[in-house]
Amino acid sequence: MAGEPQPDCLFCKIVSGDIPATIVRESATTVAFRDINPQAPTHVLVIPKAHYPDAASLAAAEPETAADVLREAGLVAADEKVTGSGYRIVLNTGSGAGQTVFHAHAHVLGGRGLQWPPG
Ligand code: 5GP
Repeated sequence: MAGEPQPDCLFCKIVSGDIPATIVRESATTVAFRDINPQAPTHVLVIPKAHYPDAASLAAAEPETAADVLREAGLVAADEKVTGSGYRIVLNTGSGAGQTVFHAHAHVLGGRGLQWPPG
């Protein structure tokens, strides 16, 4: 069924606690944790607890949860004190765009200058 945990999904295992992560925020529908390979002083991933392969499929099936992910991303930025200097919310979608984990997630990046366009 759509949204159900997938046995081979790394981020579903972080949601269930089977794989440890440094969790910085949690809501009824989301978990936010530090990226294991940070690309900026602040690099936090915000994920829905429900399993969808990418942000667009999450938004199509559960728009309120997709909004929760964006709200939590903003709250992470506030917690990390990067709202003043600016931060980036990134939704890599598809392997050609650099997506490596196929459970929807928003990267929250901040704490350094960020170039545009991204690589
Ligand atoms: P993507 O490339 O799919 O947009 O982002 C996946 C992110 O997950 C990468 O930035 C990668 O460093 C991070 N990641 C991969 N495995 C783990 C893990 O086991 N724990 C944590 N905290 N982050 C992970």
